[in-house]
Amino acid sequence: TTMLWNDRLVKKEEIKLSIEDRGYQFGDGVYEVIKVYNGSMFTVTEHIDRFYESAEKINIVIPYTKDVLHKMVYDLIEANEIVNGYVYFQITRGSSPRAHAFPQPTTEPVFIAYTMKGERSIENFEKGVKAKFVEDIRWLRCDIKSLNLLGNVLAKEAAQQAGCYEAIQHRGEIVTEGSSSNMYGIKDGVLYTHPTNNLILHGITRRVIMSLCEEIGLSVIEEAFTTEQAIDMDEFFMSSTSSEITPIIQIDDSIIGNGKPGEWTRKLQAAFDARVQQLGSL
Ligand code: PMP
Repeated sequence: TTMLWNDRLVKKEEIKLSIEDRGYQFGDGVYEVIKVYNGSMFTVTEHIDRFYESAEKINIVIPYTKDVLHKMVYDLIEANEIVNGYVYFQITRGSSPRAHAFPQPTTEPVFIAYTMKGERSIENFEKGVKAKFVEDIRWLRCDIKSLNLLGNVLAKEAAQQAGCYEAIQHRGEIVTEGSSSNMYGIKDGVLYTHPTNNLILHGITRRVIMSLCEEIGLSVIEEAFTTEQAIDMDEFFMSSTSSEITPIIQIDDSIIGNGKPGEWTRKLQAAFDARVQQLGSL
């Protein structure tokens, strides 16, 4: 397989990373994941914009223009002949003897990208999944798509140990987001989701969903809801690049609605599929 190592397409075996890379020692970097449908990247501009925003928030200067990065990633997908799958990329602050403060003089950031093949999880989309409430113990800059994912890792592990697909994190009573997804409840024909502040990642799929709600005439209130309100919702679902719109039919021991993906959720899924189809025809 071919990967990107800084601005070069190379074989995986050629890549040499330092044990003093700050990504390795401090999680000092940011990343993105973009879905590839039928050879095209979905919402690529939004993902690249967020990558630059995340990097800027931690004072990493990406040494390429957005257009150049877009082309590099596109060439990688072509080189690996990815039809359906993902492209992952990350940048770290670079390599320097271990010390917490930023290295002086500034190090060269290290960029890595690779692709993965993968088909859509149709069964989850159709049947829905179970989720588990997990206390949100992460830091207060969850808006940054940081390589520091320990809180997210522990939350997902707790969910999977309990036989659940995803964790629903909450700070005290307030539901924030999943371990790698955003969360939504629908009650009496209104969709509720946590506002985009420092406590959640501003999901790209979430942005698409906000536009789809307008398209299908579903009212949205971007207000946080509690765990108690969550289990009383008529419908519940999660969203992410890989999980798209995945219905949640059970949280811990509580069945949501009638235990099946809800009407509005299905409409959103259909509208989402239409967006993906449009991409293929471009
Ligand atoms: N929240 C977190 C913590 C995530 O890791 C992700 C996945 N990137 C999301 C939300 C969903 O974001 P997106 O729709 O951009 O994949």
